[in-house]
Amino acid sequence: MSHEEEIQSEATGLFSSAVGIPDKWQRLWAPHRNSYQAGAERPLPTNNVPCPFCKIPAGDDEDGLIVYRGVHAFVVMNLYPYNPGHLLICAYRHVADLTELTADERIEISDLTVRAMKTLRAVSNPDGFNLGMNQGEQAGAGIAAHIHQHVVPRWKGDANFMPIIGQTKIISQLLEVSRNDLAKNWAD
Ligand SMILES: [Zn+2]
Repeated sequence: MSHEEEIQSEATGLFSSAVGIPDKWQRLWAPHRNSYQAGAERPLPTNNVPCPFCKIPAGDDEDGLIVYRGVHAFVVMNLYPYNPGHLLICAYRHVADLTELTADERIEISDLTVRAMKTLRAVSNPDGFNLGMNQGEQAGAGIAAHIHQHVVPRWKGDANFMPIIGQTKIISQLLEVSRNDLAKNWAD
């Protein structure tokens, strides 16, 4: 029996002694995602978690997964990506709402969105993008207090059953590797 088969047989044994009927599916577990969704790692009015988008620019680019620093806004890898290369364009200022941004901030966030698209096209040739801002927690913002624009590259066939049924995304590249690629190839 190979090492993989041993692990599989042990797992099957565990499942068959537990409640429920064992089936043929293997499972991917993402418990870190649960703690994030439950709010353990993100700032909420009800906890004392510091704002990550205020903290990240104070450190270095590799540690914070920063791809590019502008004058009013910066570009960072999303720690909980929906696809490989999922970027966030964040204002440096801790403001929640698009209406609170200055004209200079709005212009730079828009400009960095264009440059993020050019960079991602050069590096990973996506077929399309989802761009957008969730304004308010009820609208889906994970960190509602600090405005950020999502840039999500999309490929044909990337929306398979996994995110729909399993709330699980397969991310094939380490965030550190993606950050290096994108930072090295950042578009003018
Ligand atoms: Zn903040």
